[in-house]
Amino acid sequence: MAQLYYKYGTMNSGKSFEIIKVAHNYEEQGKQVLIYSPSFSARDGAELVGSRVGFERAAIPVDEHTNLYESVKSHLSTSTGPNKIYCVLIDEAQFLKKHHILELTQVVDELNIPVMAFGLKNDFQNQLFEGSYNLLVQADKIEEIKTICWFCDRKATMVIRFRDGQPVNAGEQIQIGGNEDYKPVCRRCYNQAFREVEPEPETE
Ligand SMILES: [Zn+2]
Repeated sequence: MAQLYYKYGTMNSGKSFEIIKVAHNYEEQGKQVLIYSPSFSARDGAELVGSRVGFERAAIPVDEHTNLYESVKSHLSTSTGPNKIYCVLIDEAQFLKKHHILELTQVVDELNIPVMAFGLKNDFQNQLFEGSYNLLVQADKIEEIKTICWFCDRKATMVIRFRDGQPVNAGEQIQIGGNEDYKPVCRRCYNQAFREVEPEPETE
């Protein structure tokens, strides 16, 4: 039975690298995969899965109106050769809408194709992204891709947004084209960063 996998990790945890690796493993055996990436948010421009380690892969762009179930089905009917898709891979899955996640469950349950969605869990204000929330609810298997805090040696579970070198904890969830920078951090360093910038409460 196919399953829906949600593999989450914070920034720089190697999620894109993992996608490229999984795709390579299938394709080496002549097994076709589909890679999707949300185009309304992509950091490399719409159609590339880019890993910071320096590999790139073409991806099918997903916009707010894309029906992922219909899209996968259309590739099934047009694909030549073995006429089979062995796996569907999703990059930056946090940016998907609820309907996208429900469509992915249809791909798994009705087409019997495994889906692996990779993405962040919480945003820089520690709110779940819409895609992440719905993946946590719907996924059969949930797995953490671990990385280390930027500032210490604990496991990173959060992300800090920096603007001009200063940590910020307000603003839009998705900031495109700004001069923002994100760092993976542990909870302790996250809290520490904001203690340092917040003004001391006035004492009477
Ligand atoms: Zn830390």
